[in-house]
Amino acid sequence: MSDLKRRTFFKLGLAGAALSIFKPSRAGELLEESTMRVQRSEPIVISTWKHGLEANDEAWKVISSGGAALDAVENGVKVTEADITNRSVGIGGRPDSDGHVTLDACIMDHNSKCGAVACLEGIDHPISVARKVMEETPHVMLVGDGAREFALEKGFNKTKTPLKEVKKDWKDWKKEEKDKLKNPIINHENHDTIGMLALDTNGNLSGSCTTSGWGYKLPGRVGDSPIIGAGLFVDNEIGAACATGMGEAVIRIAGSHTVVELMRQGNSPQKACEIAVERIIEKHDDLMGLQVGFLALDKFGNVGAHSVYYGFNYAAHTEDGNNLIDASFDRNWD
Ligand code: ASP
Repeated sequence: MSDLKRRTFFKLGLAGAALSIFKPSRAGELLEESTMRVQRSEPIVISTWKHGLEANDEAWKVISSGGAALDAVENGVKVTEADITNRSVGIGGRPDSDGHVTLDACIMDHNSKCGAVACLEGIDHPISVARKVMEETPHVMLVGDGAREFALEKGFNKTKTPLKEVKKDWKDWKKEEKDKLKNPIINHENHDTIGMLALDTNGNLSGSCTTSGWGYKLPGRVGDSPIIGAGLFVDNEIGAACATGMGEAVIRIAGSHTVVELMRQGNSPQKACEIAVERIIEKHDDLMGLQVGFLALDKFGNVGAHSVYYGFNYAAHTEDGNNLIDASFDRNWD
């Protein structure tokens, strides 16, 4: 196995080994067989980008003590949402072109229950509002004022956004770089969702995804992150996936759902992420600045990650520790 592969592909536990030795013609058959052999799983939590390290630590507290993956992925990304130095997630996020910080988030559990909020303004923890939507309404997604009203009714804290320094940046952008909206530059400053996937000791998967979206986006723009099947998808029988990068491109291929379905067809999480990235590349004539990264975790704790361009990384917390890992990629920026 190459160094890159070793860094981007984990195999955990006996079931993981079984998965890599036998090449099933139908993944379903193998999954069923392995599930019978494994009573309890080794827990693992993975999440996008460097901010995932801190978030994983919080999530790990939950799953390492036998808690549920759903609580882990909620508590984990709340750390990032609360970090006021983070410009791409939560209350420290960049605003839209009119100066409004609008947040998107979704969450999905092992029973395929899910909840989401989009264009939510001035509320501190969108991921927890998404969980409330999942648990306390008959709906999956609430947006805009409706989502805000719901959050306030449920007792969430109001926050004043944008933060002072973020507002100053936005004002400078307004003055000098207005046309960047037409010709976006996707980099670590304006585009870094946290997507988190966890497998708990009961063998259950859950995922979460939260972002302030594309910095200086058009008002009302919603990316992939709060859309179940695009920014996040979990199928407890197979695996889970999440995405980061240019949401429009992820939505076009129903990215995270595609990755999970590719795993269902027998592909490893790594291969599934690679095929999904390939599909994005095929569907776009102009790839200039189009960064997308996928992260995947199968039912047995195997991990995959792949991006269009160099630069995507993710944090993985297992019993061996919490590490930042460079994902494999299709091309360099130059
Ligand atoms: N996918 C997010 C969006 O398009 C942003 C990101 O991950 O960087 O809103």
